[in-house]
Amino acid sequence: MKEALYYEPGEEGSVYCTLCPHHCHIHNGKRGICRVRINHDGKLISENFAQVSSVHFDPVEKKPLYHFFPGKTIFSVGSVGCNMHCRFCQNWEISQHGTDEFTMLRSMAPEEVISLARQRDDNVGIAFTYNEPLVWIEYLMDIARLARERRLFTVMVTNGFVSPEPLQDLVPLIDAFSVDLKGFTEDFYSHYTGSHLAPVLENLKAIRKSGCHLEIVHLVVTGANDRIDHFTAMVHWIRDELGPETVLHISRYFPVYRMTAPPTSEVVMDEFYHIARQELSYVYMGNIRSNKGSNTVCPNCGEVLVWRMGYQTDASGLDHLGRCRKCMQRVLDERFISD
Ligand code: SF4
Repeated sequence: MKEALYYEPGEEGSVYCTLCPHHCHIHNGKRGICRVRINHDGKLISENFAQVSSVHFDPVEKKPLYHFFPGKTIFSVGSVGCNMHCRFCQNWEISQHGTDEFTMLRSMAPEEVISLARQRDDNVGIAFTYNEPLVWIEYLMDIARLARERRLFTVMVTNGFVSPEPLQDLVPLIDAFSVDLKGFTEDFYSHYTGSHLAPVLENLKAIRKSGCHLEIVHLVVTGANDRIDHFTAMVHWIRDELGPETVLHISRYFPVYRMTAPPTSEVVMDEFYHIARQELSYVYMGNIRSNKGSNTVCPNCGEVLVWRMGYQTDASGLDHLGRCRKCMQRVLDERFISD
């Protein structure tokens, strides 16, 4: 437990948490919407500080990040809690519980995370993932500062629903963001996630402007966000506001948690992939049976630069500066390619 950042005192011992756009008004002894920030006698406390639910060395591709150290490993850590309540959450056992409800948490000091991350030579850094890392911001900032000193890269796998000030504080500490853009209407965000679209769009623009690496993930949920006009509008927005070089992962949904609709049809996945490919240079498909839409292809000459099958990766089509070996087109940022 640690006193939280980003809150203001309210009336009669209450507090206002300003970490995310919910701006929860929290009375003494109560928690915010994320379940992990509690008012103790007028002080907002981060209950999940240093409380870890899962740690694992994962392929970078699993985050998913396809333009960030392809084929390498990243030490991934998560806790409990989330400021969204997505009906299709694939990690709901940890994200939809607080520290008082999830019994398998382990205390881990930031130094311990760093030393675990350094145990493998092919590990490039630390990913904050599994639950929503924004509701763990105090701890992840402590780790990220240490990671910088120890030359480890940092990744946030996030829903992007955060207030402007904490995001400004975070971007200098984070190298890459994998952000879920879950839909493209306020109705969808409000009904299926219990949050709002507009702040996520503003934050995507801020992350792009910051120079951090950014990839976007869009889960296509049957009957919820699978309208072609909404998807097309989203792709156009990404192209116009973030640029056609923005990496987009289109992911197939399977029934989970509170959603019983059938899995996304592969016909819809194909159709959406082709719509996105017309506007964006780098579009990938995830959770499908084949490896279609999984290779990185040079947008200039069409050469396969990074071949992928499951989590096997061969990036031999790229040179050490992240360029296509055949035509010299820049594809990956040279900071994010291994020697
Ligand atoms: S971080 Fe949690 S407590 Fe703070 S405003 Fe968001 S949901 Fe509420």
